[in-house]
Amino acid sequence: MFAPSSEPTSEPSAPAAARPLVVQKFGGSSVGDADRIRRVARRIARERAAGSDLVVVVSAMGDTTDELLALAAAITDEPDSRELDMLLATGEHQSATLVSMALQALGVPAISLTGAQAGITTDGRHGRARIANVDPRRVHQELANGRVVIVAGFQGVSQTDPERAETTTLGRGGSDTTAVALAARLGANRCQVFTDVRGIYTADPRIVPDARQLPLIGYEEMLELAHQGAQVMQVRAVELGWVNEVVIEVLSSFEDAPGTLIKEDPFVEQRNKVRGLAHDRNVAKITLVAVPDRPGVAHQIFAPLADAGINVDMIVQNVGHGGSTDMSFTIASFELARAKRILEPIIREVGFREMTADSAVAKVSIVGAGIHNAPGYAARMFGALADAQVNIEMISTSEVRITCIIAEDQVETAVRALHAAFALERPEVIEADAAAQPAGGAPTSGAA
Ligand code: ASP
Ligand code: MG
Repeated sequence: MFAPSSEPTSEPSAPAAARPLVVQKFGGSSVGDADRIRRVARRIARERAAGSDLVVVVSAMGDTTDELLALAAAITDEPDSRELDMLLATGEHQSATLVSMALQALGVPAISLTGAQAGITTDGRHGRARIANVDPRRVHQELANGRVVIVAGFQGVSQTDPERAETTTLGRGGSDTTAVALAARLGANRCQVFTDVRGIYTADPRIVPDARQLPLIGYEEMLELAHQGAQVMQVRAVELGWVNEVVIEVLSSFEDAPGTLIKEDPFVEQRNKVRGLAHDRNVAKITLVAVPDRPGVAHQIFAPLADAGINVDMIVQNVGHGGSTDMSFTIASFELARAKRILEPIIREVGFREMTADSAVAKVSIVGAGIHNAPGYAARMFGALADAQVNIEMISTSEVRITCIIAEDQVETAVRALHAAFALERPEVIEADAAAQPAGGAPTSGAA
């Protein structure tokens, strides 16, 4: 999507070219308070002292984004999307300035930039903008001046033209995407995402105590895990990394432990076909009962949802009986109220009997490249769920995944049963080789 920067910077012979460039991203918990910000600054200072140029992307401190959303909700039920983006962007402005001050206090030259100042332009969609371009000139210029550049994550500007420029945010978790986009555009030697866990695990370690950290995971599998609920990386960031072949290293900002590399997986053919599990509680199921079985009905139902920007995930339509059929589909649970409001008038228009909704459902997925080519995985998954007395309400599959909708209160039981059924706690022999491959560039500096 972005070619590595080839156009000359304002100073073509900038000394920056000689030093490796590292992009580091710190999540909200890593910059949660003043102590943690100082700790992050010490880590950055050490990396710089080891000889790297640094571009640092930060999320808002702790739960700031949630708090800002709650404040807006206390003012009005339907905050204007433009004003909401202006508000949310301030969370990352705060953390970026504070990290910059903490570096300056250590004697390290630093400057904070908003997304717009860092040259990040977007497609302009408030609340879920996609990055359209990165103009790296300002960042190059600051690096050439010997500064660490701290970029406010999660945001960009819709236009560079000041008369029409609007602040837009990139969707929840969007700072990951800021970091990967900058790494791609700047041709960084490494892109490190510091978070509150050590890396990517075979399942959520809070649910499965013997979940295993993966030393390496391919882009495709990571993308699917992120889509299906693994919250470590934003989906869009993984996509962008894949398209631009940015090697992403996910690692803990609290301990000095090896992380997980997200990159093209050279061993993909030899692996245990199930690599990891994901679950997502943020799911609601809508069932339309006795929908007339005639052409155009599905369009009448789903087009208005699409127009409202509501993402429909799984759709199951039963075989028709006596001219009608039942139809179920899933959406994110926070969209349920809005989806019901949109569908109410359509009940009469299309003429189906009733609509039922259930937000006490969740999805569990097994993910692995090549699941599709290996028979027996679906049977093993369903068998493990049956043995654990977990009822399957809906099923969907892709090349690299099988997903089941189940009752939300059975998620933990299901995840543990599946982890055991596929023996995911057992390391794969080939991983020793994979772990030996560094992300490139200098080794990570010590613990903060
Ligand atoms: N602060 C934003 C959020 O909470 C973006 C991010 O953390 O990446 O979603
Ligand atoms: Mg995150």
